[in-house]
Amino acid sequence: MLRLIEPTAGSVNFMGEEISKLSSSALRAMRRNMQMVFQDRQAQILDLMRALKREHGTAILMITHDLGVVAEMCDRVVVMYAGQVVEQSSVRDLFDAPAHPYTQALMRARPALDAVPGEPLEAIPGAVPLPGSVESGCRFAARCPKVQERCRRDAPTLDAVDDRAGDGHLARCWYPN
Ligand code: SF4
Repeated sequence: MLRLIEPTAGSVNFMGEEISKLSSSALRAMRRNMQMVFQDRQAQILDLMRALKREHGTAILMITHDLGVVAEMCDRVVVMYAGQVVEQSSVRDLFDAPAHPYTQALMRARPALDAVPGEPLEAIPGAVPLPGSVESGCRFAARCPKVQERCRRDAPTLDAVDDRAGDGHLARCWYPN
């Protein structure tokens, strides 16, 4: 409609005028009567969820891979890897000081505002193990940059870590932070 991209075929009529054939000056005048509206469906759904939560006074459990949604919507977060809880904390504490190497890798894989254009996002090497394929030790060991001998031998337990927010920050790792 605004001819920010020139049409290659067809016609566009607005208030009785064929827009695709207007001169630059006529188009500029016509644009004063137009308003662009951008629709963000995800934002609309999140707004609806917030409204339902307010109206009904209920909690919402969100299952998502989108850390931006977690940051915007949630109070507490549970990070799972290969069928296990690997970290649990307040959202603020998780983003300020992720303790588990998997969570830290997820944070580094996020798009950032100061990212260098064209530079690929950091990826976690390897793949999630098949169910039952890790016979001993930590399920993240094959992909973990901090792996040590103990990790391959003993399965880590979900234990308290440095808890800045004081509300129960847990991680399943022998060498958190
Ligand atoms: S237990 Fe070891 S391998 Fe597993 S996440 Fe922690 S440092 Fe990495």
